[in-house]
Amino acid sequence: MTSLLLTGIAELVTNDPTHDGTPLGLLHDAAVVVEGRRIAWVGPRHAAPDADAARDLGGPAVLPGFVDSHSHLVFNGDRAEEFAARMAGESYAAGGIRTTVAATRAASDEQLYANVARLVAEMRRQGTTTVEIKSGYGLNVLDEARSLAIAREFTEETTFLGAHVVPPEFADDPAGYVELVSGRMLEAAAPHARWIDVFCERGAFDEDQARTILAAGQAAGLGGRLHANQLGLGPGVRLGCELGLTAVDHCTYLDDADVAALADSGTVATLLPGVEFSTRSPYPDARALLDAGVTVALASDCNPGSCYTSSMPLCVALAVREMRMTPAEAVWAATAGGARALARDDVGVLAPGHRAHLTVLDAPSYLHLAYRPGVPLVAEVIA
Ligand SMILES: [Zn+2]
Repeated sequence: MTSLLLTGIAELVTNDPTHDGTPLGLLHDAAVVVEGRRIAWVGPRHAAPDADAARDLGGPAVLPGFVDSHSHLVFNGDRAEEFAARMAGESYAAGGIRTTVAATRAASDEQLYANVARLVAEMRRQGTTTVEIKSGYGLNVLDEARSLAIAREFTEETTFLGAHVVPPEFADDPAGYVELVSGRMLEAAAPHARWIDVFCERGAFDEDQARTILAAGQAAGLGGRLHANQLGLGPGVRLGCELGLTAVDHCTYLDDADVAALADSGTVATLLPGVEFSTRSPYPDARALLDAGVTVALASDCNPGSCYTSSMPLCVALAVREMRMTPAEAVWAATAGGARALARDDVGVLAPGHRAHLTVLDAPSYLHLAYRPGVPLVAEVIA
């Protein structure tokens, strides 16, 4: 296997604390050796081993590719008009999802595939190298299964979200829909999915329904995750912690017991500040979570309704500006934190044996991701 020595790295974020004793594991004037798809060596340039080929990156900062652990990319159409209405004063409710469900069901496989391809490429240009993609705009057996089959073409991290919202045809029979999601729909979805997720929120699915669906998913071999506590206080976060889920996402409204449950269980709290930005809502209290010792991840939640950004650099900037995270905490949460939220030990960290996913910035330091919001700072992605 040929090896490649990368030099000209003014600042390297490794997320390997052995280098400097901090979570970011910073190295200055660093080098990385890549062999095939994996990292073979990381350290100071002066100590770098020989390699078959060498490339000087010209002096920028380099970090692990972003790990976006929460997105909804399989859909058709957009909801720009709904966004405009919201900005004109209407409030966000979970029901808007139904517009996208109708458009998604009506779309061809080719249309859905092209939409995912476009958004994954957009993410890549902004430094994302690992993305989780949910279904959840099909909401019937056929359309959920094909959504996941399409998502699988792009990532191993696919999530069955049949329990996104109760579709209109089950409006009078939510129990029948829960039975379908936990039965035939799950059977059709499971071969294409790694995870199962439930929108546990007033207006979507309650605690008992979430429990039933997650149990069925876990029995089918899927890992559990939850959308919880986005629109108000509720049982979702504590349920996720009780069940030992890998991650609970949103966590916008938390009481002290929720924070304690997250800290005790080790469940990752995934914060999605693009949603609060796009819905003009209060942000989660990241500081309280971090101070309590909770592992925090940042993700985009890219979807056509509540947050149509695919930009992890924007999420980092919002986390710092609006959620009182330090730039170091935000960059860790968008890389290593995302990997934890997906139970992945091969991405999010630049260390020997890990995947060679590197985001090269057109900036001398990772600090610029928060310091220069809205600026296209990703010069190149090596993956
Ligand atoms: Zn979501």
